[in-house]
Amino acid sequence: MAPRFAGGCICGGVRYECAADPIAAGNCHCRDCQRASGGAYAAALLVPASAVNITGEVKYYDVTGDSGGIVSRGFCPTCGARLFGKPAAGAGIISIMVGSLDDPSWYRPQADIYTASVQPWDHMNPGLPKFAKLPPS
Ligand SMILES: [Zn+2]
Ligand SMILES: [Zn+2]
Repeated sequence: MAPRFAGGCICGGVRYECAADPIAAGNCHCRDCQRASGGAYAAALLVPASAVNITGEVKYYDVTGDSGGIVSRGFCPTCGARLFGKPAAGAGIISIMVGSLDDPSWYRPQADIYTASVQPWDHMNPGLPKFAKLPPS
């Protein structure tokens, strides 16, 4: 499969290629994403896990998500860059942090989610649908 896009961490220890187009793309404003990213929100793509080829060591930290399920947050143990997430809801799906892409410029968020915890200084795109928590599936 030819890679559609690729990316990696800051130090280069972790690289990945994804052979499929994203299933979904959005900005998550939950407190976990704020803490994990150190910023206002996490911009992420959802892709089929089977389409992603990862090289290098990724460490995962598990947190209990809003749904009660375990969300695993993957990062490079050397440079600390956030790379992946394994959402509680979606077996076979992983998220990729947009900032880790080699070319993040093509990212087009489809929605703002978990806007219940959006920060007052965070200016959201008024043209995007907003969900207080997860969008209804
Ligand atoms: Zn690294
Ligand atoms: Zn989040």
